[in-house]
Amino acid sequence: MARRGAADDAEDRAHWARRSACANEDIDRLFVRGKAQNEAKKVCRTCPVALQCLAEALDNHVEFGVWGGLTERERRALLRRRPDVTSWYDLLLGIARGGTRAG
Ligand code: SF4
Repeated sequence: MARRGAADDAEDRAHWARRSACANEDIDRLFVRGKAQNEAKKVCRTCPVALQCLAEALDNHVEFGVWGGLTERERRALLRRRPDVTSWYDLLLGIARGGTRAG
């Protein structure tokens, strides 16, 4: 398997949304409130860029909507549990690529 380089990472960070499962959805469906988010996040189950999406929301402290298959409440809990993480993108994508959980 070919190794990923810095150029691949930059491309991924810039353009992951083009490959999203919700690219052709009504985006308002993902910005519902409360328990409706549990239904809305079902689209994320098959999303090939769910980790990139989640990392984007966590790194930028996005408060509203479903991102990366997590509700607002779930993301807040994750941020509270791991205040030490400086780059969720590096942590999540690193784990997915076989790295460690150090963050
Ligand atoms: S993880 Fe969910 S919200 Fe994020 S891009 Fe994929 S389908 Fe859309």
